[in-house]
Amino acid sequence: MGTVAIVPAAGSGNRLGSRRPKQFLQVAGVSLVVLTLRVLSGVREVGGIVVAAPPEAVEATRRLLERYRIPRIVGVVPGGRERQESVWLALQAVPASASLVVIHDAVRPFITRSLVASVIRAARRHGAATCGLPVAETIKQVRDGQVEGTVERERLWLVQTPQAFQRSLLCEAHEKARSDGFTGTDDAVLVERLGVTVRMVPGLPENFKITTPGDLARARTFAARGRG
Ligand code: C5P
Repeated sequence: MGTVAIVPAAGSGNRLGSRRPKQFLQVAGVSLVVLTLRVLSGVREVGGIVVAAPPEAVEATRRLLERYRIPRIVGVVPGGRERQESVWLALQAVPASASLVVIHDAVRPFITRSLVASVIRAARRHGAATCGLPVAETIKQVRDGQVEGTVERERLWLVQTPQAFQRSLLCEAHEKARSDGFTGTDDAVLVERLGVTVRMVPGLPENFKITTPGDLARARTFAARGRG
């Protein structure tokens, strides 16, 4: 099992105004986590998938994935309080034979197989890779409604998942973050803290993260149009 995917799907809250965590909300009649897993499980390079689910929804998630016959699930584990903790817990369930780990958020369902494969390829060559998009807007730093300054956007990128890493590097990065008490918003930053260079691969505009009601509406429109 060369490459194993981790899907953090253990978020509890949501800013979407529904009681159900956002990864279980439906788009095109199917929950986001299922849409995402359908794509990931179709990537030839992905030999197995570990899903981190909310602790109280582990069994329900297992049943959901069985009902939709998602192949290559090697574990559904209880996640933690932070995304980073959920990835760490899922990492413990990655089979020993995996040399590479690719991580993808459950709430980015419009990923493509070819983007996942590109990120995996980049990580195989360079050890660590993420995807993202160059920033197109002007960025300003604001405090209490006052503009403090304008950030040079030339080298700024918005980061997406998938991100992929050599398994040993990812484990070392998480271990160091844990012992330093550092919490990051993605996995790449943990690897950067080891002084290791992370490769950037161009992502996709449709690979947006569903966070707000506007994102959910956009996702539903996007899915209804047959992915664009
Ligand atoms: O909250 P955010 O939008 O950053 O979540 C990104 C992904 O991480 C989602 O798929 C969410 O379910 C997952 N997550 C997790 N465990 C947490 C918090 C978020 O697996 N404690």
